[in-house]
Amino acid sequence: MPAEETTPAIVLRARDYAESDRIVTLLTRDYGKLGGIGKGAKASRHRFERKLEPFSHVMLHFRRRPHGQLVFITRAEAADLAQFRIEEDLGRIALGSYMLELTDTLTAEASEANDAYHSLSSALAALSSGCADAALRQAFELRALGWAGYGLEFARCRVCSNVADTDSVYFVAGRGGVVCARCHDRVAEGAIRLRAESAAALAKLGAMRIDEVGGATPAGPDGALAISRFLNSILDRKLRTAEFLDSILNGAG
Ligand SMILES: [Zn+2]
Repeated sequence: MPAEETTPAIVLRARDYAESDRIVTLLTRDYGKLGGIGKGAKASRHRFERKLEPFSHVMLHFRRRPHGQLVFITRAEAADLAQFRIEEDLGRIALGSYMLELTDTLTAEASEANDAYHSLSSALAALSSGCADAALRQAFELRALGWAGYGLEFARCRVCSNVADTDSVYFVAGRGGVVCARCHDRVAEGAIRLRAESAAALAKLGAMRIDEVGGATPAGPDGALAISRFLNSILDRKLRTAEFLDSILNGAG
C-alpha cells in the first residue's frame, strides 16, 4: 500500500458520491492541485473532523492509488489551520467563490502550486476578517495571474519602458500591460484607455501583500475592464462566478 502523505489543503470544489462519499478538488500546499475521494466522508466525524466543502481548510491525509486519478483521502482535520468565515455574508460568498474558481482555472493538476496555496489562503483570511470589495478582488486577480505566469505591468510602458506622465495610458492584453500615449499609435492591437489613477492603483495593488490590502484604493471600472479583458484572453471559458460577483460588487458600490 502506498505511504500516507500529509499536507495542508483548501477545498476548491466538492460533490457527493454514492451514499456517503465525497469527491473533492483540493489545492494543497505541498503537492499542487489534487482530486480525491473521501470514503464515508458524509458520516464519519472521526476521520473527517472537517467537512469536505468549498472553503474548508484542512490538514489532509491521503494515499495515492496506483491505478486511479483520485487520491484516497484517509483523514481531514482542522489541526491549527486558520478557518475561513465566508458563509454568513453574500459579498464574501461571491468574492470567495470567485477566488476558488479563478484558482482552480489557473492551476493544473500535479504542478507546483505553493504560491497559489499561500495567496489563496491569505486572501480568504483577509476576506474572512474584512469585507468583499474591489481592491481585494483586484489584488487577488493580479496575484493569481502572477503565480500563473502572467505578471501584468501597470507602472511602465511595455514598449519604451518609460513611466507615463500623462493623464492616461493604454492597456493592451496582448502586451501584458500598459503602453504610453506616445507608443500607443505604434501598437495595432485593441487597447483600453486607463486613467493614470487606475493604472497607479493597479500597480500598487499588484505589489502589496494581500493582508495589507484592506482599505486600499481600487482601480475604477476602466481598470476592472482591463483585468477582465486579459482574463478572457487567456481562459477558454467565462468564469461561472464572475457575473454574480460583478452584480454584488456593483450593487454595493
Ligand atoms: Zn511608451
